[in-house]
Amino acid sequence: MAKNNDELFKNVISHAKEYGFVFQSSEIYDGLSAVYDYGQLGAELKNNIKTYWWKAMVQMNENIVGIDSAIFMHPKIWKASGHVDGFNDPMIDNKDSKKRYRADQLLEDKISRYEKDGKTDKAEKLQHDMDEALKAEDLPRLKALIEEHEIVCPVSGTRNWTDVRQFNLMFSTQMGAMADGSDEVYLRPETAQGIFVNFLNVQKSGRMKIPFGIAQIGKAFRNEVIARQFIMRMREFEQMEMQFFVRPGTEMEWYKHWKETRLKWHLAVGTNPDKYRFHDHTKLAHYANAAVDIEFEFPFGFKEVEGIHSRTDFDLSQHQEFSGKKMQFFDPEINQNYVPYVIETSIGLDRFFLLTLINSFEEQDLSTADKQDSRSVLHLHPALAPYKAAVLPLTKKDGLPEKAREIMNRLKLDFNMAYDEKDSIGKRYRRQDAIGTPFCITVDHQSLEDNTVTIRHRDSMEQERVAVDELENIIAKLVSW
Ligand code: ATP
Repeated sequence: MAKNNDELFKNVISHAKEYGFVFQSSEIYDGLSAVYDYGQLGAELKNNIKTYWWKAMVQMNENIVGIDSAIFMHPKIWKASGHVDGFNDPMIDNKDSKKRYRADQLLEDKISRYEKDGKTDKAEKLQHDMDEALKAEDLPRLKALIEEHEIVCPVSGTRNWTDVRQFNLMFSTQMGAMADGSDEVYLRPETAQGIFVNFLNVQKSGRMKIPFGIAQIGKAFRNEVIARQFIMRMREFEQMEMQFFVRPGTEMEWYKHWKETRLKWHLAVGTNPDKYRFHDHTKLAHYANAAVDIEFEFPFGFKEVEGIHSRTDFDLSQHQEFSGKKMQFFDPEINQNYVPYVIETSIGLDRFFLLTLINSFEEQDLSTADKQDSRSVLHLHPALAPYKAAVLPLTKKDGLPEKAREIMNRLKLDFNMAYDEKDSIGKRYRRQDAIGTPFCITVDHQSLEDNTVTIRHRDSMEQERVAVDELENIIAKLVSW
């Protein structure tokens, strides 16, 4: 990571903690690796992202509905979906440091190193060899590549590696208390299967006609081997997924449609388009006939935030086979029964949260000729900002707090509002800038005379005087997307 990127990332992480967005889980017990808690402002930001997604995907589309399925599901589901046998990461241990790594991640790091050093040929060759080995699940070949490219353990600095082994990423636990182990259940590693197994329930009860979609937001769990980059890769995280059921043969049109639609969603809240790219998969999972990642340029490089996959009829057919229940739709237009094809859009809520923080964070130099000054600011889209506005009485006396409270009590019926009367007005503005509040409403002595206040805009820092009676309308207009 370049030094300024490295620094930016560190600053975002400490900012997130300092202002109550994200805390390490179980911190007073020295933390739990790759598990995080969202603080008071993080919970608000996360909810606003969910609302933005739900609104765009479910409420704005008459043919998409949302569900909330359970985390625990029948264990056979994970057999049918392929997760019991195939949801693995290839792992390798260093015998000296006793540290465990993902073999493909070690190789990826080496590829990045080659690229940085201008050794493009080497990087491309290794990428190709690694892809081939992964596709063939050739574990000895992965180990051979690690040896050939002289990859050392970042902790011990040695090349004393074990063999590469497969490691299943699902967490399991016991349900009830059967002695023979038949009570083993999994914590779901994705929310999608809860949608597939409810396909007919929703289709019938909602009288849905193809094409239609089922969406859901919920927790997923993966026992990730490597945990790093803050909330980028967690063991407990949230997904926002939508499965769109289509007539076989039309899937490529819909794939294109969702690829474009989803990118627009990302950009509509002010994310920098230059930081985005599509990464088409050349190596497809056995059930997919097209797949693309929406990648964002994080300080540590371009990484996947969302996947769009054309999953054919794989999942529904598997459930049909394993459950013995028909997973078909009767299409009256062509008078045929078929197992629908599926286009999936799957975005990590926590990754989008991180992207939003990184994209909006700025340390702005405000120095003038005679005074050094700076501020930290989150340029969050107003619809995502935890607080829509803050009400600030200029002083703590002369009836200003009472007037401010009156305004606050009215506005909080419609918007999530902050109120602050502590410290100088300048400090209070800076605090609201740092947590992304788009507008500060300042109540001063003139307010008592003519029922007007000033609105200060976070990004431009400009102020304007407006009538108190106009506040609801003004804020509503400014915070809508
Ligand atoms: P990766 O290659 O980064 O492990 P993936 O391809 O396994 O991700 P999918 O199974 O397609 O990811 O999951 C869809 C989305 O869920 C991802 O695009 C990502 O945003 C999110 N996601 C997956 N794993 C994690 C995790 N461990 N922590 C946070 N978000 C995750």
